[in-house]
Amino acid sequence: MSTAKACVLVEPNRIETWDVPIFDPPAGGALVRIVAGGVCGSDVHIMTGEAGIMPFPIILGHEGVGLVEKLGPGVETDYAGVPVKTGDLVYWAPIALCHRCHSCTVLEETPCENSQFFEHAEKPNWASYADYAVLPNGLAFFRVPDGTSTDAVIALGCALPTVLRGFDRCGQVRVGDTVVVQGAGPVGLSAILVAKLAGAREIIAVDMHENRLAMARTMGATATVSLKDSPDERRRQIYDRVSSHGPDVVVEAAGVLPAFPEGVDLTGNHGRYIILGLWGAIGTQPISPRDLSTKNLTVAGASFPKPKHYHGALQLAARLDGEYPLAELVTHRFGIAGALEALEATAKGAVIKAIIDPQIT
Ligand SMILES: [Zn+2]
Ligand SMILES: [Zn+2]
Repeated sequence: MSTAKACVLVEPNRIETWDVPIFDPPAGGALVRIVAGGVCGSDVHIMTGEAGIMPFPIILGHEGVGLVEKLGPGVETDYAGVPVKTGDLVYWAPIALCHRCHSCTVLEETPCENSQFFEHAEKPNWASYADYAVLPNGLAFFRVPDGTSTDAVIALGCALPTVLRGFDRCGQVRVGDTVVVQGAGPVGLSAILVAKLAGAREIIAVDMHENRLAMARTMGATATVSLKDSPDERRRQIYDRVSSHGPDVVVEAAGVLPAFPEGVDLTGNHGRYIILGLWGAIGTQPISPRDLSTKNLTVAGASFPKPKHYHGALQLAARLDGEYPLAELVTHRFGIAGALEALEATAKGAVIKAIIDPQIT
């Protein structure tokens, strides 16, 4: 059996490059050669152990675009019925669905109870910091429309699907709404983009890094606020802009726990606060529960987007690339052996989006 390279998280904070077997695709699945693996903020939390214990050793990476190397028996289309063949570019949702569990069939929700986010590094593996991925039966993949840039798709990785799921679960942005987005990484930028498309009147991005705030303005933010200002000053700038009623919608895309009490405080009366970035940040924060009552707030979270959100994100990326500089969100590229560097750069926030490109050695 031939082997290929993969970036393995052996235990928290211990990353190694392994030679792992290349498996044949199972019936209903596909073997893909990875073109780009997205480095997600969640990967940083997984690496450090902040996201909890994983079934180590695991191959990192849950965002991928790759070329179909071999289709499993019986596969003729992607998961939206589009014909697919060897050599086609595909993008996938990282969790297979069994369609035989309470979540899948009764709730029609993700994640599936019989599936897993990671697989042991030496088993057939759908992780994307690797030369190859085996997509199992039930793991939805979609053919990338011809002419779409790989960077535009991977730039929004799991971020745009997460945002689409968040608004699905917590209510869409309405025409004329005022929106504040905490954090202008890929999740925040995706939220800005969707708010802009939905017709928000004001979209205010808050972040520490000027390069991210500049990109936020390009993606549709009407104003930006620096995290370097004090919380009181940030609040004053936001309320000056949207009026004393406060924002209708606040989106947490910061990935750090202190964003939560600040978001509760910022959200206007009768507003909605949507938590998207705290999947990997285990911990608690003090808030005044009375604020939820007196302001009539709706606070809700979302994670693990459904296949339809990945499909929707892919179609949006294909449609909007060029109109918005989606491909330019990819600011840093690393080989498989450079994964630790990629994660460290992502943790610092210096990058907008880093990717693992297996062609880089
Ligand atoms: Zn992700
Ligand atoms: Zn299931």
